[in-house]
Amino acid sequence: MHLRGNISRLHRAAALVLAALALAGRLGDPAMAAPDNQGTPPPPPAKETKTYAARDERILDCLPEKHLRPDGSVDHAALVAHEKKRIEIINARLGTRLRVTETPHYLVCSDADTPTTAQFVRWSEALYAHLGELFGIGPQDRVWDGKCMLLLFSRRAKFEECSRTLDAHDSTSAGAYFAVEDYGTGHPKLVKICIPMDDREPRRLQELFAHEGAHAFFELYRRPGRLPLWLHEGLAEYMTTVNDPSLKAEKSRKALHAAGDRGELVRKLLAAKTGQGLKTAEYAAAFSLVDFLITDSKPKFKKLIDALKDGKPQTASLAAAYGFDLPELEKRWRAWLAAPSSK
Ligand SMILES: [Zn+2]
Repeated sequence: MHLRGNISRLHRAAALVLAALALAGRLGDPAMAAPDNQGTPPPPPAKETKTYAARDERILDCLPEKHLRPDGSVDHAALVAHEKKRIEIINARLGTRLRVTETPHYLVCSDADTPTTAQFVRWSEALYAHLGELFGIGPQDRVWDGKCMLLLFSRRAKFEECSRTLDAHDSTSAGAYFAVEDYGTGHPKLVKICIPMDDREPRRLQELFAHEGAHAFFELYRRPGRLPLWLHEGLAEYMTTVNDPSLKAEKSRKALHAAGDRGELVRKLLAAKTGQGLKTAEYAAAFSLVDFLITDSKPKFKKLIDALKDGKPQTASLAAAYGFDLPELEKRWRAWLAAPSSK
């Protein structure tokens, strides 16, 4: 059995540039997961070692064998147990001591000190609560399956080693990244966020987490993907300001500066494709456009996102939710941005 390619997004430390890469993986295969059949002689030691490594590989790359209940629904408890096994394997392989704190929606896996880890525990559920409120996610609803694994490394070298081990990805220049494992229709979708903490101050760590955490949420909300780049990045930037409103003034100032460029910046941004890198000024404009849309109307914003996730083109989604098109969006946003009382 095979799965669709994973999606992973990462950000460069300086400019939060988004990139994408496809990864391979596979579903757990019961035949492969039962190497010690009855009557089979025990394998020699060398093979035993190899078999153990292969089992580890499957746990890191695949779903558990029984990830669906008899009625076909996803067995979330089995997925969470599987995710915890992955942490044990990562610790054994990398020599790390990630400790797991389980919250309603996250597995916060951290080798940082207790106060630092406690901050992420608080930020994670606060972010989920804000997003849940904005998009009407009830206690019984799910955005991802199992729990979102939040991997926090106090040493950058271990973050990079983990990204190579778990996602076959070189994160040498990444500030942080999130990755989605999409096993196709009817099968689970898992998500993880990896953050190196280096010597960053709490304010910056919150910003990084909220940005990646919002991406992880929006990527899987209703169905995977389908958001234009400017909305994905704008929403991610917007959510950093919800836990920490003090970030808003600086982002708005940069947006105002970006709007001063009456040339192609906004038009290019609105047409940018996923995987394309954005400049700092474009991130600021994306943030501000989303700020404008949400300030105008939260219900309309949800309607816009829902329409896009349902597969409607950008222009039709915007028209259905707000009653105007992209050029009108730019015009109204510029007017709002220029009004001193608007922010
Ligand atoms: Zn981003």
